[in-house]
Amino acid sequence: MNIATPPSPSLGDDTRAFLKRSLGHFVGGKMTPGTSGASTTVRDPGRGTTVAEVPQGSAADVDAAVAAARTAFEAGPWRNMKPNERTKVIWKFADLLEQHSETFTELETLNIGLPIGAIRMAHVAGSVDMLRYMAGWPTKLTGKTVPVSSPGEWHAYTLRDPVGVVAQIVPWNGPLMMAIWKVAPALAAGCTIVLKPAEQTPLTALFLAELALEAGIPEGVFNVVLGGAEVGAAMSSHPDIDKIAFTGSTGVGRAIAKAAADSNLKRVTLELGGKSPMIVLPDADLDIALPALSAGIFSGAGQICTAGSRMYVHEKVFDKVVDGVASAADALKVGYGFDAETQMGPLITSDHRERVARMTETAIREGASVVTGGEGIEGDGYFYRPTVLADLVQDSTIARDEVFGPVLSVLRFNDDDLDSIAKQANDSAYGLAASIFTRDVSHAHKMAARLRAGTIGINRHFVGDSALPFGGFRQSGWGREKGEDVFNAYLETKTVAAPL
Ligand code: NAD
Repeated sequence: MNIATPPSPSLGDDTRAFLKRSLGHFVGGKMTPGTSGASTTVRDPGRGTTVAEVPQGSAADVDAAVAAARTAFEAGPWRNMKPNERTKVIWKFADLLEQHSETFTELETLNIGLPIGAIRMAHVAGSVDMLRYMAGWPTKLTGKTVPVSSPGEWHAYTLRDPVGVVAQIVPWNGPLMMAIWKVAPALAAGCTIVLKPAEQTPLTALFLAELALEAGIPEGVFNVVLGGAEVGAAMSSHPDIDKIAFTGSTGVGRAIAKAAADSNLKRVTLELGGKSPMIVLPDADLDIALPALSAGIFSGAGQICTAGSRMYVHEKVFDKVVDGVASAADALKVGYGFDAETQMGPLITSDHRERVARMTETAIREGASVVTGGEGIEGDGYFYRPTVLADLVQDSTIARDEVFGPVLSVLRFNDDDLDSIAKQANDSAYGLAASIFTRDVSHAHKMAARLRAGTIGINRHFVGDSALPFGGFRQSGWGREKGEDVFNAYLETKTVAAPL
């Protein structure tokens, strides 16, 4: 199988102008080349070509950005702004993002390769929605008055203060969306920010920081440092960062938690990996289930933390479901993100494609049978075939480890006991998402109660919304993003008590 290198995409004037600029870290309201002199090449994963060169950061660049964020936090132009004024500024930020949505869509498609329609709707429009949702919160972040039982009369209440300077580290699979999930609530809470996009995908974070300034967010409130592990590690151990919010792999999350503990015990929230189960009961409506199961694993070429990469199917419908998902996989149009027909894009880098291929080969050596796929696609882009693997058991390596690619592991079950089905689904180091496919409403809700995962979908693998909390059980993370719950991460509770 082969995908011919597509012609270079025709980009809008604003996108071309952005790419021609000399891009750098964004510190104290200005783009700067930083101190290291080293650079990183940004690539188009669908063509394997160079898109831009950006500076690679160093610990000194982190220091400069943290100093800018600290100065802005202590001087207080943002946290002391009236809450309804902060609302207006964040709303304006959302308007600017919306006005420039085509530029964001093109930059993101160029950099991560997903189909352009999915980027436009889920990533860019979704980010506008998240900013608007969070824009409403500054006027609603309140403390409480608390009845006190100690002798005498008291007036006691709580205040909610912004946690301070926050570091935010995001992965490459949704650079804009992952950044907005963190930046929007931190701004609503009155924090100042140092954001680090993944080294592979720095573009949209920089454009975002510029628009924040244009919207009226004061200089130094939103800073961006570019770079990879070295820069992330300097942030994790930095003594003047109050909180770190991370999205990425479980291994790096663990290193960040250790560095935070060993430095200044900064607050830590983690959105980590997953091996999310999709459970198909014998009474499932397959007209609904089959497209949802296919989307559950193959959206984003499986490079989604909530990907439904473990599918448990009752033996009564096993053949129909496996054949149906394999046919859907074969019918997917794999191709370049800018091609309007494309339904699944490339993997992010050739290294990542090799990793996916190695994991699949190990699974086959361990006894998996390939229902479809199981190999890369030749060409300059980093494409991999949508893959369905069967004959797996609970302890198969591929049924336990996150692949982060378009590879579905299928397992069979043959009883109707919800507890035992849930026990298998819960037998994982992870607990990010899970889904259940059935026509029986009580079975659906009974299973939802039994599954140990942060988000449960019923007859749909994953449902997200700005208002719905998101996060993981077990090694899928600490804390929640989105919805009201995210403010636990960006606010400290302060008790004030006076005997009267
Ligand atoms: P990764 O952990 O390798 O990198 C994520 C980020 O951490 C990048 O910005 C990277 O530069 C930085 N980083 C790398 N080493 C670091 C270190 N030692 N200290 C500090 N920062 C460091 O993950 P990835 O490969 O970019 O992304 C894929 C992973 O992200 C998958 O495991 C996926 O499940 C997870 N993910 C989780 C969610 C979620 O919300 N739960 C969302 C998207 C992705």
